[in-house]
Amino acid sequence: MMQRRAFLAGTAAAATAAALKSAGADVLPLGDLPNWRYPDPRVEALDKRFKAKVGNAAIERIATGFRWAEGPVYFRDGGYLLWSDIPNNRIMRWLEDDGHLSVFRANSNYSNGNTRDHEGRLITCEHDARRVTRTELDGSMTVLIDNFQGKKLNAPNDAVVAADGAVWFTDPGYGIFGNYEGHKAELELPARVYRLDVKTGQATVVADDFDKPNGLAFSLDEKKLYIIDSGITHGGRSNLRVFDVSGDKLTNGKVFAENFAPGFTDGVRTDIDGNVWCSMGWADPKEDGVRCYAPNGDLIGKIHLPETCANLCFGGKKRNRLFMTASTSVYATYVETQGALKP
Ligand code: MG
Repeated sequence: MMQRRAFLAGTAAAATAAALKSAGADVLPLGDLPNWRYPDPRVEALDKRFKAKVGNAAIERIATGFRWAEGPVYFRDGGYLLWSDIPNNRIMRWLEDDGHLSVFRANSNYSNGNTRDHEGRLITCEHDARRVTRTELDGSMTVLIDNFQGKKLNAPNDAVVAADGAVWFTDPGYGIFGNYEGHKAELELPARVYRLDVKTGQATVVADDFDKPNGLAFSLDEKKLYIIDSGITHGGRSNLRVFDVSGDKLTNGKVFAENFAPGFTDGVRTDIDGNVWCSMGWADPKEDGVRCYAPNGDLIGKIHLPETCANLCFGGKKRNRLFMTASTSVYATYVETQGALKP
């Protein structure tokens, strides 16, 4: 068996195939709380406003065997979750009905963030190709943007689509700082947040005062946009800011949450009650997982995972299942609220 394992490790494709595990409801003992019982102690309510605490729902590890899982997006029509496995240069797909796991897209150009537009089309940030693409309903791909004023984008990280169809995305550059998550190259542009009008192809800079803009999410009414700054990776800030959305511009930016350092948050989503959910990791293992903030910025709950969490999304037929991409695995749990995004 060991020889067989060693042989398999010699080829990347075979190794990852062998390592992949998936289950529809594979509830595993995790972290340093191996003897949990309902209610799951890994879901920690700090305030009664926290709506993740379903008494008889547990955190499930639904899939594992990845190198760095990011960019989850749920397809309610198809009943599946997609996410990027960035260093393995692929997008994975997990079917909710039977837990079947497969590669949705090989050679994904080291994709990172994924979302959907209002026609249900997949929008993907690609590190290696330094662009944002749209996968059409017939499966063909359209490049939405790969440069700004003639200069290559750095490496788009995460995106969200507004009601008017505009794609708002961040471009911190992580994908070209080395070859592991893309390819090493020089930045041609500052780290910025852009709004792309997909009808005209025109992009505008909506924020240029971030160290490393990362995950972003609108509130349900789209009056607010939350944007993460993970600049602590390069000596900068580690916080989550909120802006008022005024048409195609952002105003009144302020810090919404900042108690992340020395770790940082990477991905963010909102729910129908106005709460803000974000990933957490890279510091104290006891803080790995997800944090939930009330609309006024109060920290009201935590979900503890045994791995650093990068991103999250709501899904399930009722949008009440929280999927969390965390390092080598994807976790899920049911919550008492619903995600603000329709898909
Ligand atoms: Mg990110």
